[in-house]
Amino acid sequence: MTLLEIKNLSKIYHGKNGAKVQALSDVSLDIAAGEVVGVVGESGCGKSTLGRSLLRLIEPSGGQVLFEGQDIVPLKKSALKPMRRDLQIIFQDPFGSLNPRHKVGKVIGEPLEVHGIGTKQQRQEKVRELLDLVGLPQNAIDRHPHEFSGGQRQRIAIARALALDPKLIVADEAVSALDVSIQSQIINLIAKLQKQLNISILFISHDLSVIRHVSDRIAIMYLGRIVEMGETEEVMQNP
Ligand code: ADP
Ligand code: ADP
Repeated sequence: MTLLEIKNLSKIYHGKNGAKVQALSDVSLDIAAGEVVGVVGESGCGKSTLGRSLLRLIEPSGGQVLFEGQDIVPLKKSALKPMRRDLQIIFQDPFGSLNPRHKVGKVIGEPLEVHGIGTKQQRQEKVRELLDLVGLPQNAIDRHPHEFSGGQRQRIAIARALALDPKLIVADEAVSALDVSIQSQIINLIAKLQKQLNISILFISHDLSVIRHVSDRIAIMYLGRIVEMGETEEVMQNP
């Protein structure tokens, strides 16, 4: 079953001094429920723009993003809120945009609060379950994210992304800032949770070796376009 269908998506940024940047051109891609699709390509080819368009963190210039059949591109911000429960994102630097004073419990539980889910006690229970799920100690709740290593911080980000039981997670260079040995731990964790919870993942990386072992299919991007798309084995055979 198709969960998400991207049709002819385009994005033009209007940079300083009137310069236009065509970051996406006619990108079409679909993701089935429970499928992992890797997106790979060199820096600047439009991967992040694609990932962020799916959550309307940026506004596409044209095309459609059908989530369970409904186009989210023309939706008003207010109508997007229920959709945002189902679509989550994990960034390379997950705490760049979060309040650094918030403790881990707050960081993980915040999406539940924002969406008004459960009582305070139920939210705290969910936060504790999420910590177990991502392999963090319970006492993390009262500590600050910056007290943790890069890999542990990414576990916090994963727990936060899972808080609302999403259907799709965009992992945007989620392991790129980590040491290689930690990278594989986090990739394996994401892959394990993906299977366990049957979530779809759009796994974005500039590094093919990061996504090849976890992706069912791979899209290769170049200059704002998907230039190759296929089953992972197929794509790996074409040099
Ligand atoms: P990637 O994730 O593959 O590195 P991006 O989606 O970040 O690529 O960027 C695609 C292109 O759009 C690049 O040329 C980049 O410089 C440009 N770009 C990204 N964000 C903006 C922005 N806010 N304003 C102008 N140009 C941008
Ligand atoms: P603050 O007082 O900083 O606004 P709250 O106490 O309102 O934070 O908690 C916000 C969310 O953080 C809660 O809904 C819960 O999910 C999580 N949280 C906070 N403290 C705990 C805790 N001790 N155990 C588990 N979760 C917690």
